[in-house]
Amino acid sequence: MKVLLTGNEAIAHGAYAAGVTVACGYPGTPSTEILESLAKYEDVDASWAPNEKVALEVGIGASLAGARALVTMKHVGLNVAADPLFTLAYTGVNGGIVVITADDPGMHSSQNEQDNRHYAKAAKIPMLEPSDSSEAAWLIEKAFTISERFDTPVLLRTTTRVNHSKSLVDASDERVQKEPSYEKDPQKYVMVPAHAQKRREVVESRMAALADYAEEFPGNRVEWGDRQIGFITSGISYQYVRETFPEASVLKIAMINPLPKRMITDFIDHVERAIVVEELDPYIEDQIRGWGLTVEGRNYIPGIGELNTEIIREALNEEEIEAPVEDVKTEEMPQRPPMLCPGCPHRGVFYTLSRMKLIVNGDIGCYTLGVMPPLNAMDSCICMGASIGNAEGMHKATGRKDIVAVIGDSTFVHSGITPLINTFYNQDPTTTIILDNRTTAMTGRQGHAGTGVKLQGENTKPLDFEQLTRAIGIESVQVIDPYELKEVRQALEEAIAQDEPSVIISQRPCLLVERSKNGPLMVTADNCIGCKVCLRLGCPSISWKDERAVIDTASCVGCGVCAQLCKSDAIVEYTQPDKGAGI
Ligand code: SF4
Ligand code: SF4
Repeated sequence: MKVLLTGNEAIAHGAYAAGVTVACGYPGTPSTEILESLAKYEDVDASWAPNEKVALEVGIGASLAGARALVTMKHVGLNVAADPLFTLAYTGVNGGIVVITADDPGMHSSQNEQDNRHYAKAAKIPMLEPSDSSEAAWLIEKAFTISERFDTPVLLRTTTRVNHSKSLVDASDERVQKEPSYEKDPQKYVMVPAHAQKRREVVESRMAALADYAEEFPGNRVEWGDRQIGFITSGISYQYVRETFPEASVLKIAMINPLPKRMITDFIDHVERAIVVEELDPYIEDQIRGWGLTVEGRNYIPGIGELNTEIIREALNEEEIEAPVEDVKTEEMPQRPPMLCPGCPHRGVFYTLSRMKLIVNGDIGCYTLGVMPPLNAMDSCICMGASIGNAEGMHKATGRKDIVAVIGDSTFVHSGITPLINTFYNQDPTTTIILDNRTTAMTGRQGHAGTGVKLQGENTKPLDFEQLTRAIGIESVQVIDPYELKEVRQALEEAIAQDEPSVIISQRPCLLVERSKNGPLMVTADNCIGCKVCLRLGCPSISWKDERAVIDTASCVGCGVCAQLCKSDAIVEYTQPDKGAGI
């Protein structure tokens, strides 16, 4: 049966068909929906881990026990999981294990743009890369076969465009049935140096065997056409090349590591010019050049951001290589700057931080939007869990106490606990604000250890942040309601006055998790003196019209934060739809 699936749904379906019984990951765009789709199958144990390293370690355990395991993460997550990954290459597997790295060219929702194809080479493991949903479903099954046949973890690399676009997938109900079996083998699985040194040689001969296999791998194929130009390409770039140059010869590579050297050499020998089209780094091109072959690519094709047919056409047109197919022009979409939602519980905290002119080290999550005007309440944001260490480092360098870290609840569980322990250990008087909105909001409201809900819907015991931080030894711990601006300010003043580390837990659910029961507010035009103080909040429901503030009652959730700022009592409950001035 053919069904229309996104790349993420197709990977989940393919993994299910391949007999995966354990799946683990940390949410991160563009990978999140893979695990959410797999969680719908009752005979799969799918779970969110506190971070990608733990997710991979869970997957490794399942694999060693003989189950097929899938581990999902976005590209930066692989940095976190790199430690167990590199050693897993040495131990090999028992049940097949596949790790998804979802790269984000163009940084649609990421703090950097990194090309994770390099991880496959560095870790000495095979990598596959699909060009669409159909191939994604097929490749994930192949990945498990390769994993078990060559006794290796397999990386499956996707990019945002493949993860989120849809194409037809043959989605049968067949599923590989595999009984886990385990045999103790410390020489293989216990990587003390004496064992690891022997496994190092196994890794090398495995890569040689995989290099031969790459020549026959059916995902690597030549599509012969006009031989004036031959394109060498993979992933989503293949689709762009095919659309722009439908008559050209194309070598499509689905096994990214190791590359099929003989196949590539033969292809280059049979075309007049060979051009590599690949997103981000010249990963394929550099290897081909390293073999002493002549190839073009990065001299035309940009290495920053996502490619598309227009970019490829224009880049090659400059070299007088004319694309026969015209692009379909799409209309320009209006620009919508990202901003915190109306009634977002983080707004009151950022407003207060901004008014107090504190130095704010931020972290990864939707609260990073506290950097946007008019709040402007963020000084740094580096990576998951970095805020607390950044704040501590700033304090060490300057001795200042007006330095805070803000970190979301999910991010705190991911990698905020260890740096908080460090502030306690060093007794650096930094203030950590845990913005606990009871969810992983930015990636689509996933649960985590603090929410009390597991991925497959069961309730569990929630982690208590107050008890946890007190158990670390931190004595100054306050729990506050971020809608109460006076409470927020008092807590901050008390915390930054301490000579030891302090924690503020700002607790209120994200409005996407728990809808506000309050009705909207409105501005009474007669009372509004046009001071614009309420505009400093940056709430999208408040705008400026005819020298007065106006509240959009359709989007206002009645959080009441703006009313606390208005000294003229001009912001009141919405009661008079006909007479209410300023609505
Ligand atoms: S704070 Fe009050 S008085 Fe000032 S602009 Fe806003 S609604 Fe008007
Ligand atoms: S009450 Fe004020 S701050 Fe809260 S959502 Fe409505 S307009 Fe925005």
